[in-house]
Amino acid sequence: MKAFVTGGAGFIGSHLVDKLIEKGYKVTVYDNLSSGRKQFLEQHTNNNNFTFIEDDLLDLEQVKKEIRGHDVVFHIAANPFVRLGEKQTRLDLEQGMIVTYNILESMRVNGIKKIVFSSSSVVYGETNEPSLPENYGPLLPISLYGAGKLGSEGLITAFCGTFDFQTWIYRFANVVGSRGTHGVIVDFIEKLRKNPGELEILGDGKQQKPYLYVSDCVDGIIFGFEKSNDMINLFNLGCDTNTTVKRIAEIVVKEMKLRDVKFKYTGGKRGWKGDVPRFQLDASKLNQLGWKATLTSDEAVRKATHDLLEANL
Ligand code: NAD
Repeated sequence: MKAFVTGGAGFIGSHLVDKLIEKGYKVTVYDNLSSGRKQFLEQHTNNNNFTFIEDDLLDLEQVKKEIRGHDVVFHIAANPFVRLGEKQTRLDLEQGMIVTYNILESMRVNGIKKIVFSSSSVVYGETNEPSLPENYGPLLPISLYGAGKLGSEGLITAFCGTFDFQTWIYRFANVVGSRGTHGVIVDFIEKLRKNPGELEILGDGKQQKPYLYVSDCVDGIIFGFEKSNDMINLFNLGCDTNTTVKRIAEIVVKEMKLRDVKFKYTGGKRGWKGDVPRFQLDASKLNQLGWKATLTSDEAVRKATHDLLEANL
């Protein structure tokens, strides 16, 4: 099977490429390297089943040309920084919805009908639900990033309804692990390298979210893709435990073998405007098909910290 992976040079995308190649897929990565790194894919350079295209998904004509001949699109590219929408209000419209439209339209003109999409838990917005199932509604995201994801989901299901596409949409928990280039663990490591005596923590440290290890994430993506065959296959992808930001700080401090670090909280219940301070995903739909995260949230955070310190990227 020939897979076209957008964002395949990124953190999650490159792990997905590793797994697809291992499973015998022919893979084309299309990535503009805005936040991805070519070195994450260097292990495939001499593999005949692997092609890398450095280009931008905003270039519709280029996407139409390069996507031709593939059987399935794994659309993983996006602006990964949830906070940026506060300062750049067009970003998630362009890197979310316009890019997704360009891919769908390129698929339509080339007769490609299967799309796997990396959505996010942020589409649920801020709720009082202890655990969010896929059929929870109304979906009211509170960040522009979340709006970009929800809008993209809508475009994808519209192409299913109008042009007989088939989709696998995954709403990820927070994903962590080797090759991570952003997020709370990377942030803490960078801050502690600069000042090992004190750590600034955004918010009150009580924000509580599920953290999924990256290999569990890509296994879940491929598992759902291979095992479910509805027109719209919508799955939460997470673990059933969670970790507070304070606990993450403690794990990072311990893994860095530091002592007597003073935690300095910026205060308030959320890290930034648009941050959902607490949520839990109900992943039982994918669990019932036979996939389950192998690591708990705390274990994922610890292993990711260890990976990142070891890689020293
Ligand atoms: P990442 O930044 O490492 O990967 C994104 C990749 O997309 C990068 O390689 C980047 O260069 C590429 N890209 C971005 N805009 C592009 C464009 N216009 N044209 C071509 N390539 C482009 O981020 P990630 O953490 O690996 O996230 C992957 C996907 O998963 C994203 O869609 C993200 O929104 C989603 N997601 C991630 C998390 C998480 O915790 N990391 C959680 C929920 C959802």
